[in-house]
Amino acid sequence: MMQIEINHLNQYYGEKQVLYDINLSISTGMFGLLGRNGAGKTTLLKTLVTLLPTKDGDIRMNGIGLHDQKKIRSIIGFLPQDFSMYGNMTAYQALDYLAVLSELDKKTRRARIKELLNQVNLTIHKNVKVKAMSGGMKRRLGIAQALLNNPKILVVDEPTAGLDPEERLRFRNLLAEVSESKIVLLSTHIVGDIEAAAENVAILEKGRIIFSDSIEELLLNAQGKIFSVQIPRTELNVAKRQVKIISLQQEGNTSHLRFIGNPNAQIMCHPLVVEERPTLEDAYLYLLLMKDVE
Ligand code: ADP
Repeated sequence: MMQIEINHLNQYYGEKQVLYDINLSISTGMFGLLGRNGAGKTTLLKTLVTLLPTKDGDIRMNGIGLHDQKKIRSIIGFLPQDFSMYGNMTAYQALDYLAVLSELDKKTRRARIKELLNQVNLTIHKNVKVKAMSGGMKRRLGIAQALLNNPKILVVDEPTAGLDPEERLRFRNLLAEVSESKIVLLSTHIVGDIEAAAENVAILEKGRIIFSDSIEELLLNAQGKIFSVQIPRTELNVAKRQVKIISLQQEGNTSHLRFIGNPNAQIMCHPLVVEERPTLEDAYLYLLLMKDVE
């Protein structure tokens, strides 16, 4: 059983504070860190993988404190957002080079790389140069390098950005598979990235955790709050002033709205208003949009 404990973490760039009193407890499986761009996700992940120094707060991984940098790094694999490597090398060469740096002997390297290429589905592309790979292939190679030392914790930052839908799906499946035996901590602004495989989720907004619990709880939180209605397009502007709209589809002169309910809004009395079962996207937007109101 793996465990990450974060207590009262504040983080700064110089004088500028970007994380405020972060408290999180993360155990084996996939954990999603959701938040808009600029919320502080990358900062939190870089802090955890010891790329940013800390002065406030206590972070432990299986009991090991961050100050024991060498030990921490030996149990973590990291795929940064701006990952790129050795464009002129082939996938195999790049992994082998990194394995040499990790001081793995030749026999171990060969076996490990074979296993990893297979796991990330790059075996048939092992002789393709990194610079000739698609975004999805590069990202999968990134996972292979992060898994090289068989880490107990895999940290991935916005891994599906820039991938096409098929690559995204394949990548999500790969992470789900890895999370069966490790902590996979995944940051994203795309709810779909965590929908299928994550059990727990934290939502970061302006440097603060505004939610941390199971996906089930996140959904329950939005229960009874999400509605839909069809109205003539001409009434759309009036509706927009009354409620927060989650999605909008226009069909001829009719507007289909999905929105967050507001007991005081007149539109709630519209005969065609229907309560909807919240999706994860609804539940996430509900939290974010209600936070804006406060
Ligand atoms: P996210 O990953 O959620 O998009 P970041 O952690 O990258 O968020 O950024 C959080 C905040 O910190 C943003 O306001 C960003 O502008 C700021 N920031 C990020 N990197 C630096 C840096 N190196 N120096 C100063 N401010 C930074």
